Amino acid sequence: MAATPSNLLTEIGSISFPVTIANLPGGRYNGGMQEYAGEAVVLRREPHGEQDSRVSLFTKRYGKLTAKAKSARKITSKLSPHLEPGLVTDIRLVEKNDMLVTDALKREKLALPPSTLFSLDRVLAEAVPEEELWSMIRNGDFSWRAALGELGWDPREAACAVCAASPEAFHAGRQEFFCSSCAMKMKVGDLIVLG
Ligand SMILES: [Zn+2]
Repeated sequence: MAATPSNLLTEIGSISFPVTIANLPGGRYNGGMQEYAGEAVVLRREPHGEQDSRVSLFTKRYGKLTAKAKSARKITSKLSPHLEPGLVTDIRLVEKNDMLVTDALKREKLALPPSTLFSLDRVLAEAVPEEELWSMIRNGDFSWRAALGELGWDPREAACAVCAASPEAFHAGRQEFFCSSCAMKMKVGDLIVLG
């Protein structure tokens, strides 16, 4: 299911958006806790408090989920090496108030650059399954033109928001396309170059 730009607008950037796995297809009720297990791509990881990390995960079944990895910043952490951005990891999450990573085992490292992982985290809505996008990433045929089309922003139907020229970049925060010369006047971190 492709997310519409309007529902993304409210959810974009909300890294702690509450997700209840009980409400998602396939969520399991387990004595007061909800559990999720499956493959995930680690999109982003940030420090959280003194010792914890907060990770953004793209899962096949549930789309993007954000979870806390306890003590992942300690050198002795067993989870830490399996939660680096760009890794495909077998993951187990438990939801009890907060969503927690309880197990992680890395499988492989994707060839996507850090900027692509960062931008994917920016454009994906929380808990919206995107199976086509998942296949693109796992099959190694990811492109931003196709990915944005899947997410409801087809570059073929778009024009530069300033001058109406052919689009060469997408601004994740503004959710608009820009041509290369108009994009050059903007902050690089927010831009996805279509390539
Ligand atoms: Zn332009």
